[in-house]
Amino acid sequence: MSVWAVIVAAGRGERLGLDRPKAFAKLGDRPLLAESLERLDGSDWVDAIVVAAPPDWEEPVILLAEELSCSKVVASVPGGETRAASVRAALGEVDDDAAVVLVHDAARPLLSEDVIDRLLTTLNQGWDGAVPALPIRDTVKRVNGEQIAETVDREELVVAQTPQAFVWPVLREAAGGDGDATDCAALVEARGGRIKAVVGDPRLVKITNQSDLELVERWL
Ligand code: C5P
Repeated sequence: MSVWAVIVAAGRGERLGLDRPKAFAKLGDRPLLAESLERLDGSDWVDAIVVAAPPDWEEPVILLAEELSCSKVVASVPGGETRAASVRAALGEVDDDAAVVLVHDAARPLLSEDVIDRLLTTLNQGWDGAVPALPIRDTVKRVNGEQIAETVDREELVVAQTPQAFVWPVLREAAGGDGDATDCAALVEARGGRIKAVVGDPRLVKITNQSDLELVERWL
């Protein structure tokens, strides 16, 4: 079974207020992207990696991969205007005969082999996709402007993380159009794909602002 990983790293990360794209923000003394690159490259499951780089940063991504001795990186392509467009650009480099594709946000540096293990074991059980998910601890409200409209049953809700794993032909078909979505699972769900929510990891937080970077630095 050949497993490909796509890292989407083309976000601008304006909320970090830096002079460079978020994937190259410093986490410890390395670019944020280094963490997910190294972890996916070191995974026993992963055979090949494609990065959707910030436009004009394709070369620095390759140099970073070389510096880290990440031998599985086969392509660095310019990302698009939206996350979905970046995913599509990277999927264009995946071999037709791949079995599984993992799609991961560079903005979530702390992925573990345990999570990858749970995802791929799930696909081996016949699911179309698998998504790491966390329960919601707070009470959730739907609002109408400033006014609370109702309380939503949190038992039915989870928070979705990445990496998300899919059977390659299923994802290829779902991602084929020009639909937009904030994650790949949404594209597969929309076509009736069966996706299992597996246990996520509280440390897989998405870096959005400076305090997220500081938090994750303490966990490194
Ligand atoms: O902006 P958002 O939080 O949805 O970003 C999630 C991931 O998608 C990040 O790793 C970011 O680099 C990536 N992304 C991308 N291309 C875009 C927007 C976001 O690769 N145009």
